[in-house]
Amino acid sequence: MTPASFVPRPCLQDIIPYQPGKPIDDVKREFNLKQVIKLASNENPLGPSPLAMAAVRTALANAALYPDGSCHLLRRALARKLRVAPQSLLLGNGSNELLVQLGLAFLEPGDEIVTSHMSFVVYTSVPQLMGAKAVLVPAVRYGFDLPGLLRAMTSKTRIVFIANPNNPTGTVVDPEELQTFLAQVPVSCLVALDEAYDEYVDRKYHGDSIGWTKKYPNLVVLRTFSKAYGLAGLRIGYGVAAPEVVQAIECVREPFNVNSLAQAAAVAALSDRQHVARTVGLAKAERSWLACRLSELDFETVPSQANFVFAKAPAGNAQQWFQSLLRQGVIIRPITGPYVRITAGTRPQNERLIRALKKIKV
Ligand SMILES: *Cc1c(COP(=O)(O)O)cnc(C)c1O
Repeated sequence: MTPASFVPRPCLQDIIPYQPGKPIDDVKREFNLKQVIKLASNENPLGPSPLAMAAVRTALANAALYPDGSCHLLRRALARKLRVAPQSLLLGNGSNELLVQLGLAFLEPGDEIVTSHMSFVVYTSVPQLMGAKAVLVPAVRYGFDLPGLLRAMTSKTRIVFIANPNNPTGTVVDPEELQTFLAQVPVSCLVALDEAYDEYVDRKYHGDSIGWTKKYPNLVVLRTFSKAYGLAGLRIGYGVAAPEVVQAIECVREPFNVNSLAQAAAVAALSDRQHVARTVGLAKAERSWLACRLSELDFETVPSQANFVFAKAPAGNAQQWFQSLLRQGVIIRPITGPYVRITAGTRPQNERLIRALKKIKV
């Protein structure tokens, strides 16, 4: 029977459209403010590498031409850096696109994915988009419960999504426990290991995830240029996976999914190791500084291995803190209940946040 009017696919009904961090210009207009800082989306407070900016200016001259659909130069640069075959790389319009492509390529209606509560919302919207079901395992100490994930898996589970470090909480899983987990996941189920914040992880928590992709054909490691490389606005991310996974993704990929400016910027950004080192050094110093200052204000914080701090407010709810800070020109990310996530900015930005927090009466 023909429907009475046009209707979206029923599985879309449960999807809550992604709520991005509030843009700076919106806040300036709304509250009539001159100086607004955004500590809401885990962007790089140092901006992009100057080398990346120069590469974009050069690439702009060829903006009339379609980009290289195979991302040849970037693929080669990444393959060298990561010591993997160029054919094992996935390139996307942000790693977000790669998450969606995994759904398109591997999820049928009725399939299941497993992930954790208090993790990245895209892991639940991707299965919803495909008419598949998201099974959420309770978080343990604000992080992923790997044995819990294994117990939640059924014969219908096709993908397990793990954010390491986790967003929004900043926790990491132990690398040895992760390896044990990988060895136990059936090969019929992909493990999407989302390492968007990998660069910020201290050495002692750092596993050889890229190397593990050679041993576990069902492991897909995802990374991004949006965070430590400071290229969030250009939209580019990458993944490392077995050739079988790469071939499947090729079938669902748009022909020119990574634009030419992003490709040029990413190649240049990879070569600027100093910029990444400065970025990571700053984030590590500032996440500790922020956590100390927040504890002094009776916020409970979770130790972070990323470029943000997850905190439980001493009173009131996240929305109240978010709104009170907005009025003072500071944008943070309210999560749920009393929980907020605050990106580690530069020291002056973080100081401004703390001054603003001290003025709030809840
Ligand atoms: C920021 C982030 C991404 C990366 O998003 P892009 O699409 O690459 O900008 C992916 N996963 C998590 C958990 C993130 O926080």
